[in-house]
Amino acid sequence: MNAEETQKLIIDESSIARQLKKGFEQLRFDEPGVESQFRREFVRDRLKRIRANLFLAVFMLLGFGLADVLLVGDAAHTGLYLLQFGGLTTALAILIGLTYHRRPHQMYPRWAPWLSVLLGIGIILVDVQGSVEGVSTLFSGLLIYVLFSSFLLGLLFYEAISVGAALWSIYLALALSAGLPESSVLYNASILLASLIVATTVSYSVEEGIRHHFLERHQLREMSTTVVRDGLTGLYNRKAFDEHLNRHWAMAQREAVTLAMILIDIDFFKRYNDEHGHRGGDECLRKVAQALARSARRPLDFAARIGGEEFAIILYDTTLEYLEELTQRIHEGLSVLSIRHGASEVSDRVTVSVGVAFVVPQLERSAGGIVQAADEALYQAKVRGRNQTYFDNEISYAAMKTGHFRKPLKVA
Ligand code: GH3
Ligand code: MG
Ligand code: MG
Repeated sequence: MNAEETQKLIIDESSIARQLKKGFEQLRFDEPGVESQFRREFVRDRLKRIRANLFLAVFMLLGFGLADVLLVGDAAHTGLYLLQFGGLTTALAILIGLTYHRRPHQMYPRWAPWLSVLLGIGIILVDVQGSVEGVSTLFSGLLIYVLFSSFLLGLLFYEAISVGAALWSIYLALALSAGLPESSVLYNASILLASLIVATTVSYSVEEGIRHHFLERHQLREMSTTVVRDGLTGLYNRKAFDEHLNRHWAMAQREAVTLAMILIDIDFFKRYNDEHGHRGGDECLRKVAQALARSARRPLDFAARIGGEEFAIILYDTTLEYLEELTQRIHEGLSVLSIRHGASEVSDRVTVSVGVAFVVPQLERSAGGIVQAADEALYQAKVRGRNQTYFDNEISYAAMKTGHFRKPLKVA
């Protein structure tokens, strides 16, 4: 397999490309990691707009309340207004607060559907209580809210449809149990249902478009980086590695998520060249690169050749479990490849040593620190006997004195 073919393999085999090729049904990506990546970006891309919409809702609520006081101006409804302003603005304030959370892409989608049901219940209560007291105009507020929650709260289609269905049944139950005339409740319920059907039909096709756009955008990004591929192996080259690291370091700081650096170095590769010739060495590098590309296949897993026989994988927003699984897969992948090594001291097959650093990037640290930490870990893997993984964790990273480089990879 030549470099161009390897390169093609990497692009073809990326989860995004596979998802794009086979398409998706019922607004769900089934390739590993793609759905969660989509959801994260969905919130991230919309966060500012969602926040603005929430402020808009607060103003609308205040406006409606003010209009009620001025136009209806009835002391008997004071309780109603308290409910309206107190309960509803609190729920909105919580939603706004979530958009300012350190990890909004996790917190907001988790709580937004529940809070929007809660908000809806508040509005239904105001409506039902108002109707009981003879103010029948409040139903329009519920209609407006249903449209608002379907389109402007940043809910995905299935969340929006669940919220809508919940509110519809709650309205029906509360209005009937409050003793409102059945005919007008049923009439209102059918209007509500019709609005929900229109809203969900629209939001289905909108989300379908957004999902297509997501896949194409990622595919395009992957293809446009083909110029920064390494000529021998087809993996990303050193330049792409630096660029990717800096970009994701900043992103991980912003989103307060983890970043992992895996450095992989072939054991006794100088001797491999001596034993099997330089061309044999090149062929070996290519095979190892393919094995690495196969191991790191989540959409944001990034594999590069950063030196002669040194490779790196950068993982964004990952877990220790995934890291352990991935490094294990790397060693297993090599033993499956089973490339004969006539001069290695640790095995009769080609093996690698792996150093891992796993951190939550902090403001005062630079991206170089994580490479240094992984480098130190790789050094440990070498001195501890090669053909193994050594983990450096956040604790040792915090203790590490930046600037004190050890020149590691020259182990006898
Ligand atoms: P260790 O187990 O400590 O990593 O030992 P090593 O021999 O793998 O490490 P060392 O850094 O001493 O040697 C790396 C060798 O990799 C030296 C060089 O001949 C070889 N090399 C670097 N780039 C290429 C390449 O593009 N093709 C080939 N065939 N060999 C390369
Ligand atoms: Mg080396
Ligand atoms: Mg080596």
